[in-house]
Amino acid sequence: MSFKSLGLNNALLKAVEKQGYNSPSPIQEKAIPLILEGKDVLASAQTGTGKTAGFTLPMLQILDGTRHPKYRPIRALILTPTRELAAQVYDNVRDYGTYLNMKSTVVFGGVKAKAQIATLRQGVDVLVATPGRLLDLENQGALSLKRVEILVLDEADRMLDMGFLRDIKKIMSLMPSKRQNLLFSATFSREIKELASGILRNPVLVEATPENTTAEKVSQKVYRVDKGQKTSLLTKLISEGNWKQVLIFTRTKHGANKLTKKLIASNISAAAIHGNKSQGARTKALAQFKSNEIRVLVATDIAARGLDIPLLPHVINFELPNVPEDYVHRIGRTGRAGAEGEALSLVCIEEMEYVRQIEKLLKQKFETEIIEGFEPQNNDEPGKPNSKKPKQKNHTPRNRKQGENKAGRSRNDNRSSRRDSSKKRSR
Ligand code: AMP
Repeated sequence: MSFKSLGLNNALLKAVEKQGYNSPSPIQEKAIPLILEGKDVLASAQTGTGKTAGFTLPMLQILDGTRHPKYRPIRALILTPTRELAAQVYDNVRDYGTYLNMKSTVVFGGVKAKAQIATLRQGVDVLVATPGRLLDLENQGALSLKRVEILVLDEADRMLDMGFLRDIKKIMSLMPSKRQNLLFSATFSREIKELASGILRNPVLVEATPENTTAEKVSQKVYRVDKGQKTSLLTKLISEGNWKQVLIFTRTKHGANKLTKKLIASNISAAAIHGNKSQGARTKALAQFKSNEIRVLVATDIAARGLDIPLLPHVINFELPNVPEDYVHRIGRTGRAGAEGEALSLVCIEEMEYVRQIEKLLKQKFETEIIEGFEPQNNDEPGKPNSKKPKQKNHTPRNRKQGENKAGRSRNDNRSSRRDSSKKRSR
């Protein structure tokens, strides 16, 4: 199959050739003709599948064929969850539109709005944006969405995870109801299906890979190790394996900082990338990582979204995510563009429940190994009957009801609210 046979025009074919793409990826093969026909598309595609070209190429062609004669209103809006992904998608829009008379820009938070407003004033056809900054600018009257013809929700699952549902609904209300909608998501929870049914009209379902499966060429392994031994094992693996480009995931920003410091102390060059870092620091860390100036990038889940690092050989889960779908996203960072990759998870006994949840989601069992010298000493899984931990005695103080904690909330209440807030805060 060639790009030409998908119905793309010469300007786009030339741009694709310039990028060095020989043939369309499966998601491109399926999505491009449907989008060109004007259909709403619900696509299941994780990063690394070529999804960005999958929606950008046909979108540019449609816009190119239906230009407004007098001025340039925003006619296509691409919403992304993170600044990094927004910047990445914008780069792609520019690359693919090289030979078209098309203007595009990107807006996201964390940087001053002045330059963004100035660019918007000059008129743009395609706007790539994160939801918060988009709404800020719309509120200030710096942009209007009244002429949007094509809406793309990229990594929609992540947008919901990040709590953008209300913003998305507000953004919808600012656009004409007659428009083409494209929704891309790596995973399909009930919430995503609900969002899709509220936005898309008679959508065609397009799948790049079977739902919730990881790239075939990624070898996935679990190393069982005690929590306190993880850093030493990690250092050994990187040093002895002479690994040059390693992406490591931690669950929290604090954890990412701590690990980065320890790696540097062991003479392994590293930088952390997470939500507390300034945009400048994130961009610099990513650039250094890509150019092999630093060997290790330690990231939290959200910060890592949209990072386009081709041919990444090693992804390590220093801690497993508590949301099993995040594992799929993390693993999408390796084995990209047909290259083989290795995904390792360092798992302590407390994380075995996460392993089971991920295995259930992927419908596959992981190969588990123990590295000599790092044999886990703690094999008692909390909450399991074989646990040798002494059973907790019931020390409920007289003035507190059974099942209530110090704050007076029931244990379950507390647990669920903690889980919710940690989901947001920890990234
Ligand atoms: P994406 O899934 O959109 O993040 O794309 C992942 C990577 O694949 C990017 O580096 C793209 O430049 C690259 N890519 C996209 N389409 C193709 C293609 N048809 N052939 C080779 N590489 C591609």
